[in-house]
Amino acid sequence: MSEENIEKKYSEFISTVSHELRTPLTSIMGFADTLLAADDKLSEEQKKKFLGIIKEQSKRLINMVENLLVVSKLQNSDEKLVFKSVCVNETIKKILNLVKIQFKSHYFILDLNYNLPEILIDTDKFQQIMLNLIENAVKYSPQETNIMIKTEFDDKNVFVKIFDEGIGISDENKQKIFEKFSRLDTPLTRKTQGSGLGLYIVKQTVEKMDGNITVCDNKPKGSCFVLTFKQAQYQSQSEKKLRG
Ligand code: ADP
Repeated sequence: MSEENIEKKYSEFISTVSHELRTPLTSIMGFADTLLAADDKLSEEQKKKFLGIIKEQSKRLINMVENLLVVSKLQNSDEKLVFKSVCVNETIKKILNLVKIQFKSHYFILDLNYNLPEILIDTDKFQQIMLNLIENAVKYSPQETNIMIKTEFDDKNVFVKIFDEGIGISDENKQKIFEKFSRLDTPLTRKTQGSGLGLYIVKQTVEKMDGNITVCDNKPKGSCFVLTFKQAQYQSQSEKKLRG
């Protein structure tokens, strides 16, 4: 990339970040001003509602700043991942135990292949990736629908698939959702909070582990995110050393 293009990308990034930070800050300032100016004119219920919005918008800011820190770490190539050869079924079962407590709104189904070969991954990062994808599956699908996690393999690869029965993703958006700050304009996206950084972080992290992520349709309704990793035994010796 030329120096001019880097400058351009950088200033685009700064302007998007400023916009994303300003939106919740404006809302926090606005509701705090209203509370201060109202003296006793507001009912207890109204006060509670406005304080609730201030809290929600502050949470949005914290999430955004945390995500930005992760993005900046990702771009710093010094970040070391700790690779281990594991069968991901066990990690997935642990994640599911956490998720079931956090999201009582959906039914979680596991379909694990018990002959699954091992893969070389950083298990903490894998856990973050899975939590992010499961959280999205919850956010973008109606309550009381199924979310299924399936593990499969072929002669060289291991696949981890997350199926939901939600709003789905159109073909023209299947690449776009992995870009920085991309949020699709759907009624559910407008209703839910998010920075549009989650899937960007997921994709970058999966690729750092030499894997890849794609999304396809779940029939008859919803999406299926597919993680693909090479089986540990097929990683070349030099790759193993690099990751060892
Ligand atoms: P966000 O913080 O907005 O959830 P993400 O980067 O995680 O950001 O996702 C980007 C966009 O992709 C979301 O805003 C949403 O429009 C869409 N999306 C992500 N996961 C799903 C899903 N499981 N089903 C439908 N749409 C999804």
